[in-house]
Amino acid sequence: MTAPRPKEITLDRTRRMLVVGWQDGHLSEYGWRGLRASCPCAECAGGDENMGRPPDPREFFKTDSPGPRNTLNEVGLVGNYALTLTWGDGHHAGIFNWAFLRGLCPCPQCFPSQSSV
Ligand SMILES: [Zn+2]
Ligand SMILES: [Zn+2]
Repeated sequence: MTAPRPKEITLDRTRRMLVVGWQDGHLSEYGWRGLRASCPCAECAGGDENMGRPPDPREFFKTDSPGPRNTLNEVGLVGNYALTLTWGDGHHAGIFNWAFLRGLCPCPQCFPSQSSV
């Protein structure tokens, strides 16, 4: 199965969200704090052995805490397969590929158990 690709990526600074419209018509809204908590780089994952862990949308249902760490400054593309996110504290090591990003989608359709978190 190949992951759908984003068609449109919007950085919504008012709502502190990254909004991704996918080629298959799906819309994902990711709160910044949850995205940062889900950063897949070795440093944030807690070591090389934890890289490649599955996406966990539960991070998006925790309380937001504004601050440089959870402020998304810039969204960049890595080739045509992933995003890099640059945060207010300068961190930019995470590579969010499309499959990972889609797997993080916290909407009720993708993550039905959200109400029981
Ligand atoms: Zn990281
Ligand atoms: Zn979804």
